Amino acid sequence: MINADGCFEHMVDCLNRLPGIGIRTAERMAYRLLAQSDTLMRDLREALDRAAAGLRCCEQCGAVTTPDQNPCRLCVSPERDDHILCVVESPEDILVLERCGSFRGRYHALLGKLSAHQGDGPADLRLDRLMRRLEHEPVAEVVLALNTDVESDATAALIAERLRPFKKMKVTRLAHGLPAGSGLVYSDPVTLGRAMAGRQSVD
Ligand SMILES: [Zn+2]
Repeated sequence: MINADGCFEHMVDCLNRLPGIGIRTAERMAYRLLAQSDTLMRDLREALDRAAAGLRCCEQCGAVTTPDQNPCRLCVSPERDDHILCVVESPEDILVLERCGSFRGRYHALLGKLSAHQGDGPADLRLDRLMRRLEHEPVAEVVLALNTDVESDATAALIAERLRPFKKMKVTRLAHGLPAGSGLVYSDPVTLGRAMAGRQSVD
């Protein structure tokens, strides 16, 4: 049972568990929510309830989908190429790559990255799921389409290492040209399309 004081701390703790939200920011958000409990807090609660009931991350690739379309349409579409799998950090990255239209393979979202700051280790990523997919799907090339910051580079290096036993599999990463220290979502579609088209082999 959470008392009144514990209730506030619990809210702060929940907000603090979101990526990029430190404890101070979580507290500021919690105070703002309390101050606007009849508007902002109510709207947020309704949005979360609706999302919890109506949205899922695809059990296969991690993209956003609905409970009655899981695996998602990207995973089941016969028009996608089974031989090339693009590994991204978040479902948002899948959306961005789909918008740029230069990739026709399948996806796998890690739903995170290695992060000393957030405390995410290899076990928090969907790596085991990725390995299982590679064992059962006819993938000939894995494209590492991760962001361009230090933590993403460490994540890409870890995955490249795990993929080493798959001797015949080509492992590539996006060509340089994306803004350093940022994410796919901040790239314009033309630059991202070029980075995908010019992807390079990982040694
Ligand atoms: Zn999917």
